[in-house]
Amino acid sequence: MSRVLIIGAGGVGQVVAHKVSQAPEIFSGAVLASRTVSKCDAIKAQIKKRRDYPLETAQVDADNPREMAELIRKVQPKLVMNIALPYQDLSIMDACLETGVDYLDTANYEPLDTAKFEYKWQWAYQDRFKEKGLMALLGSGFDPGVTNVFCAHAQKHRFDEIHSVDIMDANAGDHGYPFATNFNPEINIREITAKGRFWEQGDWKETDPLSVHKTWDFPEIGPKEMYLMYHEELESLAKNLRGLKRIRFWMTFSERYLTHLRVLENVGMTSIKPIMFEGREIVPLQFLKALLPDPASLGPRTKGKTNIGCLIEGVKDGKPLKTYVYNVCDHEECYAEVESQAISYTTGVPAMIGGMMMVTGKWKQPGVWNMEQLDPDPFMEQLNLRGLPWVEEIWNG
Ligand code: NDP
Repeated sequence: MSRVLIIGAGGVGQVVAHKVSQAPEIFSGAVLASRTVSKCDAIKAQIKKRRDYPLETAQVDADNPREMAELIRKVQPKLVMNIALPYQDLSIMDACLETGVDYLDTANYEPLDTAKFEYKWQWAYQDRFKEKGLMALLGSGFDPGVTNVFCAHAQKHRFDEIHSVDIMDANAGDHGYPFATNFNPEINIREITAKGRFWEQGDWKETDPLSVHKTWDFPEIGPKEMYLMYHEELESLAKNLRGLKRIRFWMTFSERYLTHLRVLENVGMTSIKPIMFEGREIVPLQFLKALLPDPASLGPRTKGKTNIGCLIEGVKDGKPLKTYVYNVCDHEECYAEVESQAISYTTGVPAMIGGMMMVTGKWKQPGVWNMEQLDPDPFMEQLNLRGLPWVEEIWNG
C-alpha cells in the first residue's frame, strides 16, 4: 500500500493531489494537509467531481516538527511530499527522520529572513538519512527537477562530456492582469530581484539583477527576451555533470512585468526587511503578496504556452554535439485537466512522478539526492505518459 502525505494546498499542491488521484494503481490513497484545511477540502471537492479516490484532508503547521511528526504517525504514509514553501523543508525533513519516512520536495531550503537559497542546509542531512535507511529527493519540480533529469539523460545517452548547459524557461501565458506572479509571489520576487549568478570554469560569476539578456526563438512560442538569473539547480548540476565548463539559467519576462517590478522595487515594496507601520511590524514583500492576485486564481484566466528546456553542448566520440530538449505545456489544457495553470502543472506533475519513482522502488537509495543523481530513464518515460511530453533536437558536428 502506497499512501502518501502531501503537505501544502497551494497552486502546486492542488496539481499533485489531482495527479496522485489519477494513479490509484501506484498511490493507494493520500492525505492532503496544509495550514488552512479549507483549501485542502476545496481540492478534495474538485477531485471528487472527477473520480472516486481515497483522499483525506488535515490541518498542520509544518513549521513545527513535533506537529508534523504527530501527523505522520497518524497517517502512516510511505512518503511525505513537501509541496509547502521552502521555509518548511528542514522541519519536515526532521519530522521524516523522527518517524522513519521518505521525503520529497520541489524547492530547496531558504531561511525566512535572507533571500538566499542553497543546498548546504539540506545536503547536511545526508548522513542522517543514510543511517536511517531513508531517502530524501530534492527539487522534484520542473526547474529544478525535470531540467536536472534532462541533463542526466543527455549525460547517460548522448554525450561523453557535457561542456555547457543553458536552461531556458519561457512563459508566454497571458492572465489579463497588469501584474501577477505565476507562483507564490514572495518566493518568485525574492528569486527575480536577487543578483544573477552562473558557473564557469569552476567559479561562480555574479551579474546585476536582470542585467544580462538575449533573445531566443522558443519552439511553439516564438522569439522572447530571456534574462540570466541564478537558479538552484545550477548548484547541484555544476557538481554532478562530467566535464562541465559553464552552466547558466535564463527566464523570459515581458517588458510590462519588468516595468512593474522596477517600480515596486524602487518604492521598497519588494524588500524583506521588516518596517514599522502604524505601530505594527510588517514585511513589505509579504504585504505586496496580500495585494497581488492569488496564483491559484490565475488558472481560468491564463491562455498561451510555456516552454522549458535545456540547450546542451559537448562532445561524443571526439566530435562536437549539441542537443535541445524541452517540454511545451498549454495553460488552458492544464486548466481543463486539473483546474490549474501550466506553471503549477509543470511543477506538480514531476513531483507526482518523483513520488512514483520512490514508492515503486525505481528510485530507492538511502541518503539525500538531487534529481540528476538518479537513473533518468523511468522518469523520462513517465513524463511522456503523465502530461509533460518532451522533444529532443540533436545537431552533430
Ligand atoms: P503557494 O503559496 O500557492 O502554496 C503554498 C502552500 O503551502 C499553501 O497551501 C500554504 O498554506 C502551505 N503552507 C505554507 N506554510 C505552511 C506551514 N507552515 N504549514 C503548512 N502548510 C504551509 O505556493 P505554490 O503552490 O506556488 O508553490 C509550492 C512550492 O513549489 C514552493 O516551495 C515553490 O517554491 C515550489 N515551486 C517549485 C518549482 C519548480 O519547478 N521546482 C516551480 C514553482 C514552485 P496556506 O494556504 O494554508 O497558508
